[in-house]
Amino acid sequence: MPMEKGSNKETRGLIIIFTGDGKGKTTAALGTALRAVGFNFNVLMIQFVKGKYPYGEHTSAKKLVPNFEIIIKGRGYYKLPGDKIPEEEHKRAAQEGLSLARERMRSGDYHLIILDEINNAIHTSLLPVEEVLDLLKEKPPSLHLILTGRNAHPDLIAKADLVTEMKEIKHPFRGGILAQKGIDF
Ligand code: ATP
Ligand code: MG
Repeated sequence: MPMEKGSNKETRGLIIIFTGDGKGKTTAALGTALRAVGFNFNVLMIQFVKGKYPYGEHTSAKKLVPNFEIIIKGRGYYKLPGDKIPEEEHKRAAQEGLSLARERMRSGDYHLIILDEINNAIHTSLLPVEEVLDLLKEKPPSLHLILTGRNAHPDLIAKADLVTEMKEIKHPFRGGILAQKGIDF
């Protein structure tokens, strides 16, 4: 039986942050997306600074058209080994991601918008935190917004309704085990 779309009037849109140095921030956001799509809600994920793996979620999202869309706006990991992209290009991509978020937010078409790795973009000064705070001010009351990435800014944490810190207890990278398909990407 198809599930009915929930009434947006009853929805109290939350600002959610998944941060910390342990694994699970992006996957927690994807899990929430999967849950929302189950109610035929529309979900958009915009990815900021991000690696170049063939991420499984990009293929999965295509199977959930038209309810789930992932748009990549980052130019890869910023200032990490192998990054040959000029700083200005990283900044431009981050700004494009933010403009797109604003535009899609205003459309009123979404139940959930995920700004994946935006905390890293702010922490590495690709995006001014003030601009993200301005975006939060504009959030429609019924829209849920998830911000992921390490080192969430304290001013964003202050505005959030839900903040979870993933804390590393163990990570296989420490034992030299590389990223696993379907788990890490
Ligand atoms: P995931 O996308 O798997 O949910 P994440 O969003 O919490 O992870 P990021 O900081 O975005 O983590 O880093 C992405 C990649 O780095 C993933 O492949 C993840 O396994 C790896 N990673 C996450 N936490 C750690 C850690 N504590 N040490 C080393 N690598 C990590
Ligand atoms: Mg992540």
